[in-house]
Amino acid sequence: MMLIVPLTFFTLISGITKLEDLRSFRSLGGMILLYYAASSLIACTLGMVTALVIQPGKKAIGLLDAGRKIEASNFNFVDNLVSWFPKNPIEAMSQGNMLQIIIFSIIVGVGLLALGKKGQSLIKLINDGADLMIVITEFVMKTAPYGILALVANMVASMGGKMLAEVGRFIAADYIALGILLVFLYPPLLKLLGKLSPNRFYRNIAPAMLVAGSTTSSGATLPISMAVAEGNLGVSEKVWGFTLPLGATVNMNGMAAAIGVIAVFASNLYGVTITPTLMLQFMFLGLVLSIGTAGVKGAGIVISGILLQSLNMPLTLIPILASLWPVLDIGHTTCNVTGDLVGTAIVGSRMKLIDKKVFNSKKLASSINKK
Ligand code: ASP
Repeated sequence: MMLIVPLTFFTLISGITKLEDLRSFRSLGGMILLYYAASSLIACTLGMVTALVIQPGKKAIGLLDAGRKIEASNFNFVDNLVSWFPKNPIEAMSQGNMLQIIIFSIIVGVGLLALGKKGQSLIKLINDGADLMIVITEFVMKTAPYGILALVANMVASMGGKMLAEVGRFIAADYIALGILLVFLYPPLLKLLGKLSPNRFYRNIAPAMLVAGSTTSSGATLPISMAVAEGNLGVSEKVWGFTLPLGATVNMNGMAAAIGVIAVFASNLYGVTITPTLMLQFMFLGLVLSIGTAGVKGAGIVISGILLQSLNMPLTLIPILASLWPVLDIGHTTCNVTGDLVGTAIVGSRMKLIDKKVFNSKKLASSINKK
């Protein structure tokens, strides 16, 4: 909890200022950014809809926070939107009003980009601040297994089988949402926007998907994603040299889908009615928080804390999520990395910076093994 406010503030601004290179990449930058934003929004929506169908947590209402009534947000959208903007950012921080902090951070990030050269020293300071917060988060994560063991043992003992069944449905909803992305979202996008064969695409990127799933870190998978983009997809370095590092930092489709699922799961557990306004809020948070997710193992646990805090919900669900994360992270990271490569292939193809002979070649490049 201590880290949530400064972590959000620093990492979000730092993420936005990384887009600085966009100016020099104009059409490429615009295209990939649009793709990343749109696909994350769609991913979060698909996650939310899947969870609304499966309804994980519905049979365990009130189990996590017995006796505490959590206020459903039933204001109209315009009022709601206005209340996202802080009158006083310091007050927003002291009260832990996450939506206001997120909006303020986005504005500061955009302002720093507009400042250009003059903003460099502050950008450096903010990047250092983000690094510091991530290191402290890692300290916390080191002790997390013991804390999680104690909390989950306590929870299972006091809640029993009912909760476990709901947790099972939550994992199913999460993985079904990821499956929908892989089977029903990416193939039509590749075909329609990139005029590329989805089967060949998946065969070509399989090594990167495997590394993503086994390391559960987009950052650690980056070298293999690059090798795959160059050697198997035939995309020019001009494209992947920009889109892949950017994607590994800001484009997290798997996490965006998970945010949709977690938001519904938490609302059900805490007995919050899911109104259309709340759904829009989930989608907005899915987009923004997936951008703020670092490409490292377990980053999504902290982001889930920010999500619950933003939705005004208690953090009692976090130990449960943390205990499940090693299983969930495999799927999330695989989709995070696949999403980056789908965007890279589509943009490469649209800019005619893809070698179709390499893409369609029956043989996979051996250079991947060397790299
Ligand atoms: N482990 C994920 C990644 O590196 C981030 C997350 O926790 O969702 O892509």
